[in-house]
Amino acid sequence: MKRVLIIGTGGTIASKKYDLGLRPELKIEEIIKHVNIPKDICSLEGKTIMNIDSTNMTPDKWFVIANHIKQYYELFDGFVITHGTDTMAYTAAALTYIFHNLNKPIIITGSQYPITEFYTDGIQNLTEAVYFAMENITGVFICFDGDLIAGTRATKIKTRSYDAFESVNFPVVANIKHHKVLYDTRIKDQFLQKENFNPLEIRTKYNDRILVIKLIPGMHADIFDFIKEHYDGVIIESFGLGGIPDNEHNIALKINELIETGIVVVLTTQCLEEGVEYGVYEVGSLLPRDKTIIAGDFNTETLVAKTMIAMGNFNTIGDIKKYIEKPYTYLPG
Ligand code: ASP
Repeated sequence: MKRVLIIGTGGTIASKKYDLGLRPELKIEEIIKHVNIPKDICSLEGKTIMNIDSTNMTPDKWFVIANHIKQYYELFDGFVITHGTDTMAYTAAALTYIFHNLNKPIIITGSQYPITEFYTDGIQNLTEAVYFAMENITGVFICFDGDLIAGTRATKIKTRSYDAFESVNFPVVANIKHHKVLYDTRIKDQFLQKENFNPLEIRTKYNDRILVIKLIPGMHADIFDFIKEHYDGVIIESFGLGGIPDNEHNIALKINELIETGIVVVLTTQCLEEGVEYGVYEVGSLLPRDKTIIAGDFNTETLVAKTMIAMGNFNTIGDIKKYIEKPYTYLPG
């Protein structure tokens, strides 16, 4: 018999309709009632720790969630977090980096429609999340529309459809059909629980003085003067494989100035798939390789969480760079 704790944080799954629109209101007890799982294979408990639209999620609240899991870690075999879909990918990535020595599954789920609506996807997603939380795996994952997606690889790509999430630059870890879990055998091993493990730890520090800038053609360079004054780090969504303009509007020059003053610069791309690569184009070689973080094929949500946590826990650009550039998941071969 497995023990699973369901932690409620809000989102559409917990929402009811009000004059201004949907608002999270249901307590976890009302949500758990819908889980469709035989009582003799799993004992379920629930806790509501916040009830927010995930639009209002903050790094502080990631740590509230993490601390609850730490508090109940020994009592349960797996954890499910119900969460709004809009910032779910950020929370999934953040929890991956906040926990150290995690050896149990944490499955984040939610729905596109409230669990009390007859066309809801909430019952399926929540029930399947519980099935995944009973598996002997470790890591933070998103469970949505039958897919189990690594927490560092998920992106919300649709605002209304049931298949709202995509696994970016990495295979879906597993699917569930008729309550049977089927893994992608190429990557399963890295998610199996360890036999010899150390106690769970939480990284408690982060730096949220960062922002994401998406370059546009003809962008004015003066925004980088503002960033230099007010921020400690910036994630740049450049063009294609890593292109940064160096003509009339010399953005590359400005970013070099930021790097010189010690601001953390992470170079990523506006393309969802296949990532950045330093040095393929001249316009992709204008920043110093050793002081710029080259984001590889990580999605922006993951970079936001990882950069905040890296900047809170490491002091030198060398250490921050090493931590961010190292992939958490890998595709063998
Ligand atoms: N706005 C909602 C939220 O992120 C959307 C959802 O849960 O699907 O909380």
